[in-house]
Amino acid sequence: MPLHDVPRRDERPLSVNPFLGPANPLGDMTEAPPKHRLPDAPMAPATAYQLVHDELMLDGNARLNLATFVTTWMEPEAGLLMAECRDKNMIDKDEYPRTAELERRCVSMLADLWHAPDPSVAVGCSTTGSSEACMLAGMALKRRWARRNGDRYPSRDARPNLVMGVNVQVCWEKFCTFWEVEARQVPMEGDRFHLDARAAAAMCDENTIGVVGVMGSTFDGSYEPVADLCAALDGLQERTGLDVPVHVDGASGAMIAPFLDDDLVWDFRLPRVTSINTSGHKYGLVYPGVGWALWRDADALPEELVFRVNYLGGDMPTFALNFSRPGAQVVAQYYTFLRLGRDGYRAVQQAARDVARGLAGRIGETDDFRLLTRGDELPVFAFTTAPGVTAFDVFDVSRRMRENGWLVPAYTFPANRQDLSVLRVVCRNGFSEDLADLFAEDLTRLLPDLRRQPRPLTEDRNAATGFHH
Ligand SMILES: *Cc1c(COP(=O)(O)O)cnc(C)c1O
Repeated sequence: MPLHDVPRRDERPLSVNPFLGPANPLGDMTEAPPKHRLPDAPMAPATAYQLVHDELMLDGNARLNLATFVTTWMEPEAGLLMAECRDKNMIDKDEYPRTAELERRCVSMLADLWHAPDPSVAVGCSTTGSSEACMLAGMALKRRWARRNGDRYPSRDARPNLVMGVNVQVCWEKFCTFWEVEARQVPMEGDRFHLDARAAAAMCDENTIGVVGVMGSTFDGSYEPVADLCAALDGLQERTGLDVPVHVDGASGAMIAPFLDDDLVWDFRLPRVTSINTSGHKYGLVYPGVGWALWRDADALPEELVFRVNYLGGDMPTFALNFSRPGAQVVAQYYTFLRLGRDGYRAVQQAARDVARGLAGRIGETDDFRLLTRGDELPVFAFTTAPGVTAFDVFDVSRRMRENGWLVPAYTFPANRQDLSVLRVVCRNGFSEDLADLFAEDLTRLLPDLRRQPRPLTEDRNAATGFHH
């Protein structure tokens, strides 16, 4: 069984058009390939290509997907480099020493960008995305805590916990489940939709392996107050002696804040921040498949978690869940760093934020909607229906916008704001002012219809909105 739902298994074989066959147009039609069983016989590559290509036409248009944070457009040159490197396995450091070197340069660049005290000794690695990076960072926190508490764990059954906001991305719940750590989640309260520094410190005890601060929240695009969090934990240490480290989940924001929010201190400048992750494939501007995890120095990453692979006759440290992994994404990350530089990243991220603010402003001006965030932290904003609106809800808006090809997720907030449902728009590179205008026009055109509804009409909320990230 595949892990995703297959509603009803359709046993009809694939239909092959006579035009798809090579020299003999009937050649590939003689045995229609089954869908769920490995076909008995091979077929011509052109036929196989066309069958797969045609089926994929019905996937949504990635550029109109305002639900995802993940890069949907890169330059042709980046595509070319990735094609040139698609046969390289990241783990083969010895066979592909230059790819390994580019990975190392990317780590140094990020360490410098995030103000590691000495970028030359900061340690880090590429991953398949932030989820893997968060697993690694969480494992390092757990191992450091276990070392400090060898007298109580595992022999005396102390149960490690990790403190975070209820708004964290699902990868943190996965981490806690997979690695048997208790997830202690600070609920939302009123108009606070992310972690509160004092509430987080209050949840810490001698079994807390760390606190996660998110730059920025996937629920509404807001930055969590990392500096306040560190200050609250400094206070905790003064009062109780507990020294609790902070991991910053910068999946999106660690590639926004360094370019657009110079004055905001959230990174390794704060001594309590021991590790940071980001998704190269989000605002790092690379196609899906790359993330980064960095530790402020070698002390922050327990040596026993690091494995060694052969590298030019010597050995090279690696820290990863996977063994084999594509090298192309790492090369594309290095290309993008080189191509854009700081000024280029600043320009791209500023453009995304300008689009987000502009579009949020227009939506906020209508009487129909109320903004929760304004797109001025991550280039992402969340909005809900205005208090007096009873004819339609956010799920109706999501469903109707889908008719125009726009994917805008609608979802309900977690504790203690399950009463609140919102729409979220993620503005990425490639979602231009012009596309934002078209989006706003489509939304405006729908409103008279929606206002005339007798009541909210969406029966299947999940079908209306799709998955949110
Ligand atoms: C996207 C995201 C993740 C997961 O990252 P992937 O790169 O998709 O694995 C984790 N945390 C936050 C805050 C995110 O936005």
